[in-house]
Amino acid sequence: MAMTLSGGCVCGAIRYESSADPVMSVNCYCRDCQRATGSAMAPVILVPKSALRLLKGEPKYYTVKADSGNEVSRGFCTNCGSPMFSLLSGMPDVIAIKASSLDDPSVFKPTLNVFVASAPPWAPVSPDIPAFAKMPG
Ligand SMILES: [Zn+2]
Ligand SMILES: [Zn+2]
Repeated sequence: MAMTLSGGCVCGAIRYESSADPVMSVNCYCRDCQRATGSAMAPVILVPKSALRLLKGEPKYYTVKADSGNEVSRGFCTNCGSPMFSLLSGMPDVIAIKASSLDDPSVFKPTLNVFVASAPPWAPVSPDIPAFAKMPG
């Protein structure tokens, strides 16, 4: 059965829903994710882009060129600033949902830590799942 996810931003201007099994669930410790989330890493669930439905509001996307040469567009609420989505030019069919924006963040089961080379010394990095200095593959 497909996994149903729902979530939104702090102020409630944006609400979304997704019904699909996650393509991948990762903790990303890259510097861009750190700056964009204000945290040591971004917990993200990748789902097929077609599975995501915006129920309310429209995120604004800010695009940066990643170290890999690919572009990453991060979607956030223009009213409250909450980060929620990432679009990856290297994976055009998926959208990454920030697990912290889910109504029930406990459904997030990360299977990989990526870009741990830039994890700050104070960041918890789970030893129970594989870690990659940058991106695997
Ligand atoms: Zn908001
Ligand atoms: Zn990242």
